Amino acid sequence: MVAVAGEDDVRAWLTAARRVTVLTGAGISTESGIPDFRGPQGVWTKDPAAQQLFTLQNYVADPDVRRLAWRNRRDHPAWAAEPNAGHHALVALERAGRLRAIITQNIDGLHQRAGSDPASVIEIHGTLFEVECLSCGRRTSMRENLDRVEAGQDDPTCLDCGGIQKAATISFGQALRPDVLRQATLAAADCELLLAVGTSLQVQPAAGLAEVAVRAGARLVIVNLDPTPYDEIAHAIVREPIGAVLPRLVATAAGHR
Ligand SMILES: [Zn+2]
Repeated sequence: MVAVAGEDDVRAWLTAARRVTVLTGAGISTESGIPDFRGPQGVWTKDPAAQQLFTLQNYVADPDVRRLAWRNRRDHPAWAAEPNAGHHALVALERAGRLRAIITQNIDGLHQRAGSDPASVIEIHGTLFEVECLSCGRRTSMRENLDRVEAGQDDPTCLDCGGIQKAATISFGQALRPDVLRQATLAAADCELLLAVGTSLQVQPAAGLAEVAVRAGARLVIVNLDPTPYDEIAHAIVREPIGAVLPRLVATAAGHR
């Protein structure tokens, strides 16, 4: 389908819709100073050796990789980042009663920090702010583990079982959590409009949610600076900076409860 719809159409669709599912990627957070790691211009995409370093297999096998990973978590830009106008626009959409869910590929917690209901945010690639034991599954906060790193434990192990711990994020070579993927698929299949924001739609299975939505009869609106593999099935494509355009797109919807 050739996308001929413009911004006015998108505004009207959002104003009419009662169930909008939003799929967000790195592009919504780059304006908050968080670099894109996995996208086409991503840090890891352009440096495959760095990506290889952070596979689950290497993480488990190599204590040096784990020590480096803990330092990266401590220094991650998400700790200092603030939500931007794009995140706040989605909060406005939710408060207007239009939101079915936000499915995010980001691990930075900025949707929740902006004020989105945590129950509405589906973090398909996990979160930086929790730690999981790879042996017993125990979950603890990232903060308390980083405190142990600061205190000199450069690879803090599980206090229950002594197992290797990792951020509760999805590493390369690690499958998505089936329950989380199921929630995301349901939210994509059960919306009137899927708004894909700042995602290159190149990392599966997240990208495939765009097709799930369209097959279920939803409109697909893509807000992204670069072309995506799903542009030809989109009903509208908006190529403008997210922080500038998203507040405009949701303004009318947010004003009509
Ligand atoms: Zn454990």
